[in-house]
Amino acid sequence: MKAEILAVGTELLLGDILNTNAQFLAQELANLGIEVYYQTVVGDNPQRLKDTIFHAFSRADLIITTGGLGPTEDDLTKETAAEYFGERLILDERALGRIRKYFDRTGRVMTENNVKQAMVPEKNGIVLYNDNGTAPGIIMEKNGKMIVMLPGPPRETIPMFQNQVKPYLAKKQEFTFVSRILRVAEVGESAMEERVKDIIDAQTNPTIAPYAKDGEAILRITAKARDEEEANRLIDPVAAVLKERLGDAVYGEGETDLETVVAEQLLQKQLTLAVAESCTGGMIASNLVEYPGISAALVEGCVTYSNEAKMHRLGVKAETLEKYGAVSEETAKEMAEGIARTSGADIGVATTGVAGPESSEGKPVGLVYIAIAYKGKTEVYTCHFVGKRNKIRERAAYTALNRLRK
Ligand code: ATP
Ligand code: MG
Repeated sequence: MKAEILAVGTELLLGDILNTNAQFLAQELANLGIEVYYQTVVGDNPQRLKDTIFHAFSRADLIITTGGLGPTEDDLTKETAAEYFGERLILDERALGRIRKYFDRTGRVMTENNVKQAMVPEKNGIVLYNDNGTAPGIIMEKNGKMIVMLPGPPRETIPMFQNQVKPYLAKKQEFTFVSRILRVAEVGESAMEERVKDIIDAQTNPTIAPYAKDGEAILRITAKARDEEEANRLIDPVAAVLKERLGDAVYGEGETDLETVVAEQLLQKQLTLAVAESCTGGMIASNLVEYPGISAALVEGCVTYSNEAKMHRLGVKAETLEKYGAVSEETAKEMAEGIARTSGADIGVATTGVAGPESSEGKPVGLVYIAIAYKGKTEVYTCHFVGKRNKIRERAAYTALNRLRK
């Protein structure tokens, strides 16, 4: 089934409001395995609305509209669809009764205009009663073409789609599409694709799509199947092969993030952590604190920005700072060991680096040392990040968390 999403409303066209309904519907239709070929926006203009609906039906089997079901003269979606299908609109007493009740309940006065909202197709139509507003939605269907008309306000559109339209469309779909996401840390999108290209190319069902989102590389595995169980049977072996190839670069599956994975790991292993941050300025601690329940693992976080703080708070030696500088492997090591020792935590993590925009101590912007002290051993990682000051800080905090995971 080829679908088109049509949002009706001059405010949308002029950019006064954002077309969030289209985003919602596009995602929902994709999950149903219905292919969306076009998204269109048209203003409240009778001729252009008519042209748009007729044109949309020349290239789509299903049109989902939002908006233009209101009581005013320029709300014409229903009337135009009826014209396309050659149907008459008649008054639906039940819809009218519900509109009356809605006005009573909200303490407003119903106008004669609202009667227009209770007009429904005489034949080939299904009325979608509205629990959150006045305008009922309508499905009209004839000769293999279908239009689903939904109200404009998202608080009416979304539940009407979820509760009434989605089950109706799902029944018509022979196949469903199920996706699983693998999240990859510290490997760029193209490097990741390179490493699994042969697996991607060899796959037809499920398909594998690499992409990047929020600075992370992601693999989306999508199976076409009769039901979710069958889809999972198709996805499982492919996910396993990808994970084996990418090794521990894959840090999680589905709706999760690095903070959550690290926090869960710490809690599960009953390990405690303390953080000493210079260039990241508290970002590592802040990211971890997003996870509720982290108090059982996170002992403390210190932003030790000055040399004095590094010496007095963490016990970094004056000679170390003098000889190697604040941005150095040696300082990072002493910071991590210092925070672990003084806090009593099992693990000490430290960052020190040049976030820019100017270089410092003759060291380049983006150079960051990340140290992790654990069980009497300290690992120091030398990293080179690119980008503006905040990007470098974010990458450093992210990388520190990822090294902690490993
Ligand atoms: P009403 O009875 O409120 O007139 P309607 O079905 O005619 O309902 P519109 O008049 O087109 O809908 O839109 C009503 C309000 O719903 C808009 O002012 C806007 O706030 C919101 N809205 C409409 N379309 C969209 C959309 N595509 N995305 C997000 N919000 C929308
Ligand atoms: Mg309106």
